[in-house]
Amino acid sequence: MTLRVGIIGAGPSGLAQLRAFESARQKGAVIPDIKCFEKQDDWGGQWNNSWRIGLDGHGEPVHSSMYRHLWSNGPKECLEFSDYSFDEHFGRPISSFPPREVLFDYIKGRVEKSDVRKYVQFNAVARHTSYNEVTQEFTVTVEDLKTNLTETHVFDKLVVATGHFHVPAVPEFKGIKTFPGEVLHAHDFRGAERFNGKRLLMIGSSYSAEDIGMQSHKMGAASITLSYRTTPMGYDWPWNTVERPLVTHFEGNTAYFSDGTYDDFDAVVLCTGYQHKYPFLPSELSLKSPNVLYPSNLYKGVVWQQNTNLFYLGAQDQYYTFNMFDAQAWFARDVMIGRIQLPALDEREADIADWLERQAALSDHDAEADFQSDYLRELIDATDYPSFDLDAVSQLFKDWMHNKHTDILGYRDAVHRSVVTGTMATKHHTRWINALDDSMERYLNGPSQEDSSAPAGLTDRHRGGQEDLEGSGAGPSLIRHAHTSVS
Ligand SMILES: Cc1cc2nc3c(=O)[nH]c(=O)nc-3n(C[C@H](O)[C@H](O)[C@H](O)COP(=O)(O)OP(=O)(O)OC[C@H]3O[C@@H](n4cnc5c(N)ncnc54)[C@H](O)[C@@H]3O)c2cc1C
Repeated sequence: MTLRVGIIGAGPSGLAQLRAFESARQKGAVIPDIKCFEKQDDWGGQWNNSWRIGLDGHGEPVHSSMYRHLWSNGPKECLEFSDYSFDEHFGRPISSFPPREVLFDYIKGRVEKSDVRKYVQFNAVARHTSYNEVTQEFTVTVEDLKTNLTETHVFDKLVVATGHFHVPAVPEFKGIKTFPGEVLHAHDFRGAERFNGKRLLMIGSSYSAEDIGMQSHKMGAASITLSYRTTPMGYDWPWNTVERPLVTHFEGNTAYFSDGTYDDFDAVVLCTGYQHKYPFLPSELSLKSPNVLYPSNLYKGVVWQQNTNLFYLGAQDQYYTFNMFDAQAWFARDVMIGRIQLPALDEREADIADWLERQAALSDHDAEADFQSDYLRELIDATDYPSFDLDAVSQLFKDWMHNKHTDILGYRDAVHRSVVTGTMATKHHTRWINALDDSMERYLNGPSQEDSSAPAGLTDRHRGGQEDLEGSGAGPSLIRHAHTSVS
């Protein structure tokens, strides 16, 4: 009987799995029967963002935590597919830090070209899974969100590709219930325009706090306070941004910090991270992990230790993203079709233990980037995924992190070289701090005559002083452009 493979989720990880099988098919391999279930009406996962907050049109939790004006937070050269370059997709070099819509287009380009949409059932949410030890089959109950009808599907192999940045972790703070302003989790943040003129408190010290904080600065927030639990981010923040230790409690609109300082705020954004949640899996198959580079219980970060018919993609914290999901999907594919023979349980356990020991000793971000590069190297060496220079990507991560420390508002203006094509990125026509239109049209075709998307009341001071169009030689302020339709 033909092998039956179920994939849950058609975000970048699920799509990597489809692409991995398609690549094998193109090289003459017989591939399994594949079915992929995606609860949204399109693929792309987080990159298929929504304006909705809370529930979607079907009453399901909104998946994407992305927002307007989200630009890549790392160089695109670090996530480039090695079998589908940015140059191939766009037909020309582009800048190193594109906005969400541009990356979404890139992800879609590869899978559209591979003709794998036929495997995906959209508006289909996985509700329940059971595993029969005797027949070694998974039975997955899926609900069609348009008809509310459920169906069961039986698979020999199951791939969990549902992501882990969509179920908020929400800590409690004394007095927050009666905070008179807006309180939201980063998952529900959809754009910083409404924080113009507001005093913002961001609780958290990772990517979300940094990016939402700087988005808010860009959109004219009066002040931004970033509250950390253990370690401050330590960037050279703009004039209206400070870091404080953890909030102890709130009284009215005043937040008190553990160093004895306090301040008044208009809004609080909880950038307190996400939980791994797999409500469609029984507990014995469900990954329980903090957000770490190497979750325990997954051999090679992919294969479930106690049931090697179950695979997780993208379950780790991510320096690498799209190309790591590829490396994992190629590895999972080869295990599924028997090209890779798994070692015995205790050998796999020892391998996991080695990685966990290494992870525990990681001293800084540079070491973490090298760690994940080494992880990818192992996966890529085991399959026919086209290899690329992982040392060069590690260096890109280090340059990027260095640039952030040099200029937190300007690091996205830097350009990096592709390790896939050798092409140097182009300098973008507009500096990130000035870019108020994040559409692909504007990104690719340059500044239009009119940019009316700036919130009222922005001043040069809010947005970092002198504005200019990079490379255009144009002197006048983009702020002025934003308000006066002058190009
Ligand atoms: C705010 C934010 C900003 C980010 N910025 C960047 C960035 O700049 N660069 C970068 O490289 N990465 C970024 N990331 C990381 C991002 O998570 C990855 O790029 C990528 O989207 C992960 O892919 P995934 O397929 O593993 O998960 P997801 O993208 O989360 O996709 C999972 C898919 O599974 C579907 N699904 C979930 N549950 C079910 C179910 N029960 N049944 C059926 N379908 C289901 C979802 O609808 C979704 O389509 C960011 C993440 C967030 C949250």
